[in-house]
Amino acid sequence: MILRPTLSVLLLACAALGCVGCESEPVSGSVPTGETSISDVITEPEQKNDETTGADSDRGNDRTDLMKDQPDRDAPTAYNPLTEEEQYIILEKGTERPGTGALLNNKAAGTYICRQCNAPLYTSDQKFESHCGWPSFDDEIEGAVLRRPEPSPLDSRTEIVCNNCGGHLGHVFLGEGFTDKNTRHCVNSVSMRFVPEGEELPAKIVLDR
Ligand SMILES: [Zn+2]
Repeated sequence: MILRPTLSVLLLACAALGCVGCESEPVSGSVPTGETSISDVITEPEQKNDETTGADSDRGNDRTDLMKDQPDRDAPTAYNPLTEEEQYIILEKGTERPGTGALLNNKAAGTYICRQCNAPLYTSDQKFESHCGWPSFDDEIEGAVLRRPEPSPLDSRTEIVCNNCGGHLGHVFLGEGFTDKNTRHCVNSVSMRFVPEGEELPAKIVLDR
């Protein structure tokens, strides 16, 4: 009888100190009233830990939010540099001379990407021979190309531009019957770059504007 209170005190002390060795030994029914107390003592610090963890987690989120507000140092700040000829065609809506484009007769498998921003525009499967003097495609990679009717009432053509950077590509014509899709994207070679199949596509440059 003398030992019991002493043991209880010891157990409580051990539990409070987180003594693992004592935790499993005594509770086997020899001290029925102490069991609840030990359990309470043990769970209390665990709850405190949970609260602490939660607080840490909140602070972590705060840090993440702060980082989101910081400008991304790796974010691109400019598109690919352009030569004078590229600027004339891509930025000033110029047109390369027919039959001269570097990609006109390219029949290799791969992807045609935007010269200015690397956005994938067309696949080689979409290219066909129209004999019009410029690379021709009967479809575009979904969402890659934007159509804009020419503003002049004297020009019935529809301009096509890169949907990511707005760079001028050429014009699109419908109803000519070249292919089943009845569509011809007439694109300047200068506005594109060809990436052969199996070669990694460069990252699309997206500017935060
Ligand atoms: Zn582009």
